[in-house]
Amino acid sequence: VSVGAVPAAERDGGPSAADRLVLAFDVGGTKIAAGVVDGSGRVHSFVVARSADVARDGALDRLFDLGGRALAEAGVDASGFEAVGIACGGPLDAVRGTVSPVHLPTWRDVPIVALAEERYGRPAALENDATAAAAGEHRYGAGVGTHTMIYLTLSTGVGGGVVVDGRLHRGTTGNGGELGHVTVDWHGRVCRGCGRRGCLEAYVSGTSIAERAREAGLGDVTAADVADAAMSGNGAAAAVWAETIEALACGLISLVNAFEPERVVLGGGVMRSGDRLLGPVRERVRADAMGGAGVAAEIVAAALGDRVGVVGAATIAFDRVEGGVAVDG
Ligand SMILES: [Zn+2]
Repeated sequence: VSVGAVPAAERDGGPSAADRLVLAFDVGGTKIAAGVVDGSGRVHSFVVARSADVARDGALDRLFDLGGRALAEAGVDASGFEAVGIACGGPLDAVRGTVSPVHLPTWRDVPIVALAEERYGRPAALENDATAAAAGEHRYGAGVGTHTMIYLTLSTGVGGGVVVDGRLHRGTTGNGGELGHVTVDWHGRVCRGCGRRGCLEAYVSGTSIAERAREAGLGDVTAADVADAAMSGNGAAAAVWAETIEALACGLISLVNAFEPERVVLGGGVMRSGDRLLGPVRERVRADAMGGAGVAAEIVAAALGDRVGVVGAATIAFDRVEGGVAVDG
């Protein structure tokens, strides 16, 4: 398997990666972003709108208007880009090209791929948002050069993606890689994302860290606030933070044992707590994973920040025009 970001056209003496452009959408529950991204991963434009304003009904006109703004800001005309990539919260059917995102109740079985192709006259591709983010980090971010990589975003919920032998793992209909719903305590807290008990998400999402902090009498605080308070000796905060570290390490040890990745990439807002989370989690995984897996797996912070969604969607779009679902071409 060759790992690299060089598209086939460039290898054949065609346009360079930086000259090739796609239009990318990141459809989240709070915000929707659109951007023009080139084949080297550079973001030429980035426009954001509130999801509630864009997805007021089942129509996609306002989404596509946002795309139009992204094209205009980048100075790209209707024929100046190759494809459209769409990263969207699940559930979705990547094969049929339809979405029914949990956090956008007005969109049910919306044929977003067909409508995008109709609107822009370009091929379009759809992927689960966390899976697309994993592809973006693998090709352009903190996972570059790895064959096997695990990606987790610790955000409102916990999303995940897996690259195995250089290929993005999508599952049968594109809903695979839901690493946030790995069970870390089968009698544990109820998971807001899926309703089961004891998912990783029920402990390490920003929402559940804040919720556990409130229950511990810490008021309305963020994950980073809890980490700060824990470091400065607040006992209640230290207990919440220790449980967060324990849960994340527990989930990662299972994942590291299952996949023996070269790298684990962690993104999302909870990562603002930085080394206060990464440091102890690295130690635990190294000590407790089986065999050499814990030693082999580097655990690092994601590199693409709040643009990971559009860069991930762009990665999917480039893969679509390259004719496959491989991350590494
Ligand atoms: Zn769950």
